[in-house]
Amino acid sequence: MRLLVVEDEPRISEIIKAALERAEFAVDTVRLRADAREALANTAYDAAILDLGLPDGDGLNLLAELRPAGSRIPILILTARDAVEDRVLGLDAGADDYLVKPFAMSELVARTKALLRRPGAALGTTLKAGNIVFDTIGRDVSVAGVPLQLPRREAAILEHLLRRQGRVVPKSVLEEKLYGIDDELESNAVPVHVHHLRRKLQDAAASAEIHTVRGVGYLLAETKG
Ligand code: CA
Repeated sequence: MRLLVVEDEPRISEIIKAALERAEFAVDTVRLRADAREALANTAYDAAILDLGLPDGDGLNLLAELRPAGSRIPILILTARDAVEDRVLGLDAGADDYLVKPFAMSELVARTKALLRRPGAALGTTLKAGNIVFDTIGRDVSVAGVPLQLPRREAAILEHLLRRQGRVVPKSVLEEKLYGIDDELESNAVPVHVHHLRRKLQDAAASAEIHTVRGVGYLLAETKG
């Protein structure tokens, strides 16, 4: 698998490249946003690692161009900015995950692998996490083989979390999903639906759970152990 690393600090770029190559990825590096744009247009990368602070502009702008143009390449953003708003901006612009600098190389490799494991799930009609199965055509949900009845809004939230399982889904993205069902959305609608959904999954002994990433959004992950 071939990865693109967009990072302007030569030292960091080298370390990232070496770590990913040890994990048996083919890695290309660029240091400018313009070069990243060109590389992505010419090569079918499996994923990209994108620093946000680049000499010729903000990596966020690159993201903001890619997603509307239909690119679904998994993107992990690197940022020195640890403000919650910057992470939310990155996720809203279409990043799949983020790491705040400084980070451990082992974590970068693990998160990159996690992104690559998911393309099938993003496209599939049967979504699974642990013992939760969601048939997106019949809109049927079951936990350990037992049907679980969910109101439409909760089902919509669960579907989106399943499609992006293991990744943080911003609250604003879930709000957008609900707007399609209900145009008069209360400001606390998402937390309330998530609360009900989480409890129903727990009551059904689901082996995946919804985590709250404070100030950012939600993440569905299989329960460990
Ligand atoms: Ca930088």
